[in-house]
Amino acid sequence: MVVAVMVLGCAGVGAVLALTFSSPRDRALAQIHRLQQQIDRQNAQVGGVRQDAQRGLDALAVKLGQLQAQSTRLNALGERLIEVGKLDASEFDFDQPPGVGGVEDASGNAYALPPALDRSISQLASQFDSQQAQLSALQSLLLDARIESNLKPTGMPVQGYISSYFGVRPDPFDGRSEMHTGIDIATPYGTPVHTVAEGMVTFAGVRNGYGNVVEIDHGNGYMTRYAHNSVLDVHAGQHVQVGEVIAQAGSTGHSTGSHVHFEVWYDGRVINPLAFVRKHR
Ligand SMILES: [Zn+2]
Repeated sequence: MVVAVMVLGCAGVGAVLALTFSSPRDRALAQIHRLQQQIDRQNAQVGGVRQDAQRGLDALAVKLGQLQAQSTRLNALGERLIEVGKLDASEFDFDQPPGVGGVEDASGNAYALPPALDRSISQLASQFDSQQAQLSALQSLLLDARIESNLKPTGMPVQGYISSYFGVRPDPFDGRSEMHTGIDIATPYGTPVHTVAEGMVTFAGVRNGYGNVVEIDHGNGYMTRYAHNSVLDVHAGQHVQVGEVIAQAGSTGHSTGSHVHFEVWYDGRVINPLAFVRKHR
């Protein structure tokens, strides 16, 4: 403000001088004086522009810092997703941009940013693009993993308690040692029996010793078997969802009382189902 008043004051004095002493030399001096004032004003304007630009750059730097912090958070989120989804981390290096082609956009840059800032912003932009692509790939993989988990035997097929475990045990009828190929879950007659995973019913009928039995192929190497049922609610060739009712518990076949004999097979071999029934979906 003070400067402005002084500038105006000088201009006024110059004009008065030019009118008072109107010799050619004096007029030239007055002309030079006006030009000098004009240059001063322009310099002041340039200074103002510089200040505005600096303020703009400071704001940009703050914005850049925020974006970088966001990028760091995205990285952390991505790494947590990989952990949660038990995915191969080497496929998702969030610090590296994925190998894709592209064309630099060299047009329409109205403001020339300092090269360092411009580089940082460009790097950040491509980092965000890369993170976005990797996150959406990760998301679809996680969805696949969820579908995959529906196919894996998980949880108890029926409400009750485990009355006999997998392994060698005395036969309940004649006391001789025999291999018990599943677990027995004691449960009242007629209790609904559920599938422990999605799959296709490959057998529903009577098998020697097993009585009324349902066998389900889960398409991933796993097969489950549910034996001694009183009633079967599914038929061979039927597609079943996780938890669907397939039978009612009973005591058909080689059995001393109402229970479900549950087996898990993997790649054609019977395995201990205990770890599977103790899991939760
Ligand atoms: Zn059994």
